[in-house]
Amino acid sequence: MATFNNHQMTKEELLANDYREYRGKEMNVYFKAEICQHAAECVRGNLAVFNPKQKPWINADAAKAEEIKEIINRCPSHALQYEREMV
Ligand code: SF4
Repeated sequence: MATFNNHQMTKEELLANDYREYRGKEMNVYFKAEICQHAAECVRGNLAVFNPKQKPWINADAAKAEEIKEIINRCPSHALQYEREMV
């Protein structure tokens, strides 16, 4: 089960807040460089998904969506996000 993330926004809110979208087949990842604290939780979490040496640096198809969400939940600055599902 996905962990609840207090800071989650809808896709529209993320884009309105200057998050950049990295599209994947199962999920999209959103990133806002200005607030990244370079804690590297993402890179340590999965280098195939989050790799500053690749372009684009986020590959949302390189791991299962649940794993990517779990890594994003560890991002201390909330520079990384995934969209809140509309129910
Ligand atoms: S975990 Fe978040 S704050 Fe840390 S480097 Fe990745 S995006 Fe930046």
